[in-house]
Amino acid sequence: MQFENTLAFAKELDAKDELKDYRNSFLFPKINGKQVIYFTGNSLGLQPKNAKLYVNEVMKDWEELAVEGHFYAEKPWWDYHERLANPLSKIVGAKPSEVSVMSTLTVNLHLLMVSFYRPQGKRYKIICEEKAFPSDQYMLQSQVRYHGYDPSEAIVEIKKRTGEHNFRIEDILETIEEVGEECALVLIGGVNYYTGQVFDMKTITQKGHDVGAFVGWDLAHAAGNIKLELHDWDVDFAAWCSYKYMNSGPGNVSGYFVHERFHNQKEIPRFEGWWGAKKDTRFLMQPQFDPMPNAEAWQLSNAPILSIAPYLASLTMFEEVGMERIIKKRNNIVRYLEFILKEIDKEVASSFEIITPPDQEERGTQLSVFLHGEGKELFHYLMKNGVVTDWREPNVIRLAPAPLYCSYEDMYRFGQILRKGILNKE
Ligand SMILES: *Cc1c(COP(=O)(O)O)cnc(C)c1O
Repeated sequence: MQFENTLAFAKELDAKDELKDYRNSFLFPKINGKQVIYFTGNSLGLQPKNAKLYVNEVMKDWEELAVEGHFYAEKPWWDYHERLANPLSKIVGAKPSEVSVMSTLTVNLHLLMVSFYRPQGKRYKIICEEKAFPSDQYMLQSQVRYHGYDPSEAIVEIKKRTGEHNFRIEDILETIEEVGEECALVLIGGVNYYTGQVFDMKTITQKGHDVGAFVGWDLAHAAGNIKLELHDWDVDFAAWCSYKYMNSGPGNVSGYFVHERFHNQKEIPRFEGWWGAKKDTRFLMQPQFDPMPNAEAWQLSNAPILSIAPYLASLTMFEEVGMERIIKKRNNIVRYLEFILKEIDKEVASSFEIITPPDQEERGTQLSVFLHGEGKELFHYLMKNGVVTDWREPNVIRLAPAPLYCSYEDMYRFGQILRKGILNKE
């Protein structure tokens, strides 16, 4: 399709967009009395309108039933979290028995590493990507130190080549090959938070297994954004936060995946709690831990219902739309945004460099744009004019037009504001 950088054309694309009505299912902040153009769904997704209904339902049950709500609430609390397994399994490509929700992302990765980072003899190294999200770096460093190793020896970072913005699959595979039988774990962010690069998780997982390592994925920027097939890719474990592309609310609970081949293994090392115990005997309060026969064996505490409620609200929308349609719109709107950026680039003296891979198999919703000759004032200008973006030093803006609530018109209007911001300065 031949794109045009005009309001009429953008409106035409919106009119044809089969997901256009979902925009009305979200609450937008306002700047100068106008709904913002929101590009930070990769950081905190907008609030779905049904989130309050789900939370209020719990508040009401708590008010009217108190402790009885565990069993007699509209959606009983004791197994409330199970309602999320089905929709989540579709989003991440898993069996419902392989996914659940609890705690938060960094906590869950630590907990999963109890099971999947088991250094022994010369097999003690962890492979990750260089400049991983800081929380992941701290997590990995503290894990290896906890096991008595020196992070500078035990953590092997996959490097980008000089002058390149993205990782090359051959370099990743070569690093895994080189570390070989010293590799205990490969743990990478499935979509790079800085560039938006999507990794070939299937090939990397296979390679990690070939050298005898466990392979896990941090899917913070992947879940609800790209197509995932965790079960078929044979991934050992994964975790993701729910507040980015899945719109569950600030700091909200994390989802996790444990491949079914690890279920029903009583000897697997794991930190355990009562909510991981078999349901039919859980309330007998026996001293012996008898694990759930699925990923829920990793659950510790009774679930935070008030957090899970808005997550469930959001998942009902994902279930209704399906990842396929989300990805279809995602590809179109990101291509339109890319086109707009290139058009504006022609009109201004400074130049934009999109550091996200151009191939849509290698990217999701995010475009990271290196703004040569621009500074943070531009970010402030955009914000003042109703465009919410994310700024990363030295001068990269990250733009993630979430397909459920961003419109093509947003892309057009953003382009005009960006152009003005740069030209006024020039
Ligand atoms: C957002 C993000 C996190 C955040 O972790 P929390 O424990 O939810 O605070 C961690 N890792 C990556 C890669 C992220 O993008």
